[in-house]
Amino acid sequence: MPADYHTHTPLCRHAAGEPEDYIDAALAAGLAEYGISDHAPQVPEPFDDWRMTLAELPDYLQWIERARRHAAGRIPIRAGLECDWIAGGESWISDLASRHDWDYLIGSVHYLGDWDFDNPKWLGRWTESDVDAVWSHYWKTYGQMVDSGLFDILGHPDLVKKFAHIPPGDLDRFYEPVIDAIAASGAVIELNTAGWHKPCAEAYPAPRFLELACSAGIGLVISSDAHAPGEVGRDFSEATLLAKAAGFRETVLFEKRQRRNLTL
Ligand code: ZN
Ligand code: FE
Ligand code: FE
Ligand code: ZN
Repeated sequence: MPADYHTHTPLCRHAAGEPEDYIDAALAAGLAEYGISDHAPQVPEPFDDWRMTLAELPDYLQWIERARRHAAGRIPIRAGLECDWIAGGESWISDLASRHDWDYLIGSVHYLGDWDFDNPKWLGRWTESDVDAVWSHYWKTYGQMVDSGLFDILGHPDLVKKFAHIPPGDLDRFYEPVIDAIAASGAVIELNTAGWHKPCAEAYPAPRFLELACSAGIGLVISSDAHAPGEVGRDFSEATLLAKAAGFRETVLFEKRQRRNLTL
């Protein structure tokens, strides 16, 4: 099985489980590597209620060390963060990048302005919004994140579809500029299986986006976005089939922000 690099810890306040349980699940799933990428601190604090604080960063590194000790060489443990892309936030990402010898950084767009649109708490805001306008805003923001060049992995590319608010018609108009930007940036995308368990009932990104990404020569990782041990490596067989159907023959591994390939 590929590596699973997008996983969380209880420090983000909406995940559960001990490091030992996550590692046991990773071993049981036969993953190539296990990476931890909890929601990164964001300034100014307090920013929101679904991430670790900056003061908790040492606890996070200790949690990773506990995972590594339990793994005891049976599976490589990688250290990362899922960082939020906030317009104009480049210097904060660089600051975070310098605070540890990370194996990779994931960049995610969860915020459009002050709205964390994927938070079920604000579902009502979707009904007041023009879906096409939200999608345009989302993909423009995603493209800016890509252009920053600060991330190794680009998280859940079409997360904006989470609650199944999807504009009618051909979506290539949203995908194509971002595909070009990703190809130019050299970052890889993730095939995030969590979407299968959300109202959209589809992995992130959509099969069409995957095909375009493969044709453009963009690299791929497969991720569960686990917030509980039982979700580690979830749906990886289905995801592997989906990736192969889109044309992918390998996934990418990261160590100290250097990449190599693993045959699918
Ligand atoms: Zn989360
Ligand atoms: Fe996310
Ligand atoms: Fe996540
Ligand atoms: Zn995520």
